[in-house]
Amino acid sequence: MNCKRYFTGALAAFMVASSAFMTYADGPVANGTDPAGLTSAPGETAGAGNGTTGVTAAETAAPAPASGAQSSGSQTVTVGGNAAASGTVTAGGSSTAGNGTVTAGSSTVAAGSSTVTSGGTTSSGSTVTVGGQTGPAVAVGSGTITVGSGQVAGAAAGPGGVAVPSVIGAGDLSFAGQLTDPIVKVTEKYSYDQMSRDISSLKSRYGSHMQVNTIGNSLDGRSLYEIVIGNQNASKHILIHAGIHAREYMTPLLVMKQSEHLLAFYDSGSYQGRSLSDILSGVAIHIVPMLNPDGITISQFGVSALRSSSLRQTVSQCYAQDQADGRTTQSFDRYQALWKANGRGVDLNQNFPALWDSITTGPSHASYANYKGTSALSEPESQALANLANSRNWSLTISYHSMGNLVYWDFAGNKVAEQSKVLADLVTGISGYRTNGSSGKGGFKDYVQTKDNPIPSLTIEVGSVACPMPASEFGNVWNSNQAILAALAAYAADH
Ligand SMILES: [Zn+2]
Repeated sequence: MNCKRYFTGALAAFMVASSAFMTYADGPVANGTDPAGLTSAPGETAGAGNGTTGVTAAETAAPAPASGAQSSGSQTVTVGGNAAASGTVTAGGSSTAGNGTVTAGSSTVAAGSSTVTSGGTTSSGSTVTVGGQTGPAVAVGSGTITVGSGQVAGAAAGPGGVAVPSVIGAGDLSFAGQLTDPIVKVTEKYSYDQMSRDISSLKSRYGSHMQVNTIGNSLDGRSLYEIVIGNQNASKHILIHAGIHAREYMTPLLVMKQSEHLLAFYDSGSYQGRSLSDILSGVAIHIVPMLNPDGITISQFGVSALRSSSLRQTVSQCYAQDQADGRTTQSFDRYQALWKANGRGVDLNQNFPALWDSITTGPSHASYANYKGTSALSEPESQALANLANSRNWSLTISYHSMGNLVYWDFAGNKVAEQSKVLADLVTGISGYRTNGSSGKGGFKDYVQTKDNPIPSLTIEVGSVACPMPASEFGNVWNSNQAILAALAAYAADH
């Protein structure tokens, strides 16, 4: 490579700060592009995500030279990095002090005249133009929100915003300040066991506004919970699920925090001038926070955390076969962390009867990812969700996945395309995410859009770094999705 060319432009500006250069050396590892060693890399990373394609390389494949960097001076970081002062971040990063400019999915944390143009957070004196939030926790200035889901502490909500009391609590993340004593806490690995305890605690604290059901059990004997918030006897019902893909375990954390906030602000919060209690008197929100607890357990803690010895053996067999096929070159530890399937190696979101017979893209054997199973609905987890989907007339349903900051709304043979597109426009207007049609087969969204008695449906792909995502990404995910359930409930109430 020609060195003069190499040192031109933004890269040169970036590299002149030696401290920044040193941290850059570690950047691609920390914010990396996994699963680099997986030769048929699946999932919500580059390539065929979630049984769908269209996640652009920009989110995952680090197209810019300064990808994943941390810098401490007056810096330009182009993808996924952090500029510590007076920085310019163009995607997925944060500028922590000074006159930061962030153009997508990011946050500026401290003082200065900050500008966020898409999906971000600023904590003072700032302007957010799309889908963002001016945060409640620190020295809030005169924030302006022109589109989307923001909130300003102690002030009226912006358009599309949720007004919440400006209670400031501990924590250095903007959302942490909104509840004085949150039950659901952000952790690196939000586990099935923790979630189960949190559901019990929410029930104890907010029992009058919620109901907890079990819609089935996983192969390894874990409960598939359903939380219902709002009027159980309402005429409108909406269905949200998360955690169907194992390594996407930030999505259960997201919907649990969404649930807690709905409950905490049930009697005092509002959405677009309507009280939440009024909205939820006419709509019940059903949330299945973790449809694949076995797979999530594998991804977070490895097979030793499984109860069944035969399932532990299956995972080991998957690894051997995927190695033999060249589907992985990872260590066994990393292979488990990248697990996407259920406890016996079936990708649950390729297991629904939506052109299932014609799925030919995955392996012919159980695997960490992309194996469609022996037949549609062969798995107890996919069966349980299909049964729930067919148990009543739903106004709409949302599937939370990661990653890509994308909303998928269509499928071949979609019987509710128009309604689904309206929902997509609603969600992207709040979140700042992009829309995409769809591709891939066998997904839950695909199924409910094409079945008898079809349901308007979206898949929302949260986050902008590879799965499993670090907890540091949660702030961005939260900012884009905090108001989504209230918005969907209000929409359902009106339609
Ligand atoms: Zn997924």
